Amino acid sequence: MKANYLCPNCRTYLNVGERIIVSAENKEGQKGILLFSIHLGDYEILKHPYFDLKKNEIIQMSCPCCHKSLKDTKVHQNIYKIIMQDDEDQEYEILFSGVYGERCTYEICDGKVRSYGEHASKYLNFNNLIQMS
Ligand SMILES: [Zn+2]
Repeated sequence: MKANYLCPNCRTYLNVGERIIVSAENKEGQKGILLFSIHLGDYEILKHPYFDLKKNEIIQMSCPCCHKSLKDTKVHQNIYKIIMQDDEDQEYEILFSGVYGERCTYEICDGKVRSYGEHASKYLNFNNLIQMS
């Protein structure tokens, strides 16, 4: 499936090639760029080796274009959101954890959620959605 990923605020395309680009900041206030895979469930994150992230620390993430936070505090304070658009222009909310090392992603459309990652059960109870098998 050919999908695009958009900022929920300014709707700029965040995917370039096989990667989704976000601005990030660690607990110490150091800024960096993170590249996520466009393939949901692939948790390889590319970053500069000097951008230091520690396991289980919360990363602040924002749109590289409008600089607004991607945090979705309606669901949980660790959860971030971007929009996915499939090749038929159907839109999905993509929620993911901002805790470094936590592997969980939720794809939500019409009140239904499909989850990815070994830690997916951690936040499922927060969004009151019907889980798809
Ligand atoms: Zn934006």
